This record gives sequence, structure tokens and C-alpha cells, in this order.
Amino acid sequence: MNISKGVGCAKVNIEVIHQLINEVKAENIMIPEIVIEKGALQQITSYVKSKKFTKLVLVVDENTKNVAGQALKRLLENEKNLVTTVELKPNQHGQVIANEETLVQLLVEMPNETHVILAVGSGTIHDVVRFVSFKMNIPFISVPTAASVDGFTSKGAPLIFKGFKETIQTASPLAVFADISVLKIAPREMTAAGFGDMIGKYTSLLDWKISHLIANEPYNKLAAKLTKKSLEACVKYVHQIAAHEDEGLKILMQSLIESGLVMLVLDFSRPASGSEHHLSHYWEMELLKNEEKQLLHGAKVGVASAIIVDLYKQFVANFDINHASSNYIHIEHIRDHWPKMKQMINELPNGDNIRSLLKEVGGPATSKELNISDQLVRDSLNEAYHLRDRCTGLLLINQFKKHNINIPI
Ligand SMILES: [Zn+2]
Repeated sequence: MNISKGVGCAKVNIEVIHQLINEVKAENIMIPEIVIEKGALQQITSYVKSKKFTKLVLVVDENTKNVAGQALKRLLENEKNLVTTVELKPNQHGQVIANEETLVQLLVEMPNETHVILAVGSGTIHDVVRFVSFKMNIPFISVPTAASVDGFTSKGAPLIFKGFKETIQTASPLAVFADISVLKIAPREMTAAGFGDMIGKYTSLLDWKISHLIANEPYNKLAAKLTKKSLEACVKYVHQIAAHEDEGLKILMQSLIESGLVMLVLDFSRPASGSEHHLSHYWEMELLKNEEKQLLHGAKVGVASAIIVDLYKQFVANFDINHASSNYIHIEHIRDHWPKMKQMINELPNGDNIRSLLKEVGGPATSKELNISDQLVRDSLNEAYHLRDRCTGLLLINQFKKHNINIPI
């Protein structure tokens, strides 16, 4: 088993992650070394030295170059490393997109001999680096500049090819160095997006359980418990996260990384991605199609989660299981587990609770604030369940709707 112990991984629950590895027999998974603290940037020099890496590539964009890239370059050069910086170019909206153009830019600018790549930025920069790292067989180190997404440690890279999003399985990082001083100066909307990605676990965990009960999809209690704990920690520390306090940012980053590690170990994203992510992908594809400015992943997920909760609660309040036709797919299982499903949905916070949490951290709380039209929300509620071959509450609701059950969408 090739599992590193992790340096300074103060609160990331590495022990439980190892327990999960043993449970699912994922012996070949390599857990990255994780450092989440003030001054984490300074620790990168001794880490690369310990690995005997001397030829390094820093991948940045204009913003992340200023907040961390240049400082990191100086630190690494002081230790006699050869450092090449690749600054990824933005599109017409001033955004770096993980598409063919950006991937080719990085491939073209990569020096022939490179020992390690450092992804200095948020989710998109990581996705570009992850892909190139995997294809060139060069390891990479994650240096998040914002607590904005739960994908830093994952293998999946959502990339855009010919205007369509596709998630490609690539490489996870060797190590993650998240410097709290850097996360602190990140734009508030990025932190709010990370919080939104965590809030989405309310519905992703529910959908996962539903898919297990109704469609017998694989489920792991420990993974669900760990993800739920990470979500609850973020909700508990919402004030500290909103105020960008050290403790709040640390808890948010730990939660995002734990959620990412659970996906990495299970090798699927079910605990962290349900129908709220399907809505978010649907909206994203529409924006791509129209070549509009992209929205932050977690901002969409948080808003979508509130919409899904409202829909599910309306559904259980209106649906009469005793008069459900026996023609529905999975109806016997739904009948068997209806009381449990109802209870789980009733126990969720309502949409307004979720919206006020999102508001508190300074993120968008409604589709209007995201500039997503009511029509697009409606279309996504009717069609987004097609995006993935997964049983979710949204899929079941759409099934009933087809059979003329009046669902308030
Ligand atoms: Zn997500």
C-alpha cells in the first residue's frame, strides 16, 4: 500500500479516510500529503527538496500569479530550483476556461524536462494541470488560492471540448499546500462558492441514499457519515467563514478536501454530487452554448441545492403513495421505503434556510442573483436528470410527472 502519512494534516480526518480505504479495499489509492495552515507556501520548498524535484513549472493565471505565484517562485528559486511560470490566458470574458485552447497552451509552454508541476489557483487551473500532468506523466502539487471547490484532490477533470463539458479521469495531486494567508485574501465570492459546493451535500447525500434504497446502487455508510460531518462543520462555522477568519477558512478547506478525498477513495462522486450538480451542469452547458460568462461552480451548486430541497419537500407533501400506479419503475421499492424517504426529506433544512446560509457567506442565494432565467431553471428541472445515468429524487419526480401526477415544478 502506498499511502503517505501527510504532513501537518491537523484536522483533515486522515484516519477515517484510511479506514474507508480499508473498507473498500482501495489499496492502490495514494492519499496526498495535506498542509492547511498559515505559511503553507513556505513549506513547499522543503517538500520539493525531499522529493529531489529541482525543475519545476508553476501554472498560474494573472490573479493567482499576484497573490501567490510570484512569492512562491522567489521561495523556490532561492533554493536553487529551476522554475518556469506558465500564465494561462483568459478568454474574451477575462476567464480562464479548461478547454482545448488552454490545454494546448500549457502543453506547448511546458519545458521538455520537468520534475513536477505546481497548480497555483482555483478549480479551473487544477483541472488543466491535472490533465496535462496525467498525459505527460509528471506529478503535480496542488496550491489552492481560494477555498472554492471540493475537487482539489480528485482525479476527475471536468474539461470543455468543442463547447461540451466532459469529465476525464486523470491524476490526483501528490500533495496539497493550502496557505490560510492566501485563502484569506481570495475574493469573497470564491469562498462563498466553496461553501455552496459543501451546502450541495444536503441533497447529494440524500440522492445517494435514495439511489441505494430504490435502485440498489452501491452505498457506503462511512463515506456518507464523513461527508455529512464535513457539511455540518461548515454550517456550524458559517459566521467565521463569512468573516474570512482563519478558523472558518481552515474548516471550509478541510471540509472541501475531505469531501474530495472521499470521492477519490470511492472512485465515484455520488456522495458529493446529486441532482443539484445535474442542475448546475445543465445551466453551465447553456451558458457555454451561448458563449456567456461562466459562473463559479459552487455558486450554482448552492443555489441549485435550495431549489431541489424545495421541490422534494413539495413532492412529499403532495404525492399520495397509496394511489400510485403499479406501472412506475421501482414502485415496489418506493412503496417499501416511502416512510424513510419522506422522513429524510422532511429532516432537511428548507430552501429558505439554505438560501440564508448562502447569503450570509456573501454568495448568490437565488437563480435570479445568478442571472439564470426562470425558463432555464424550469427546463433543467425537467431535463437535467438525463445528464447522468443515476437514480436521484429528481429522476423519480420526473417519472411520476410523465404519468400525469401533478408535481409543482
Ligand atoms: Zn461540486
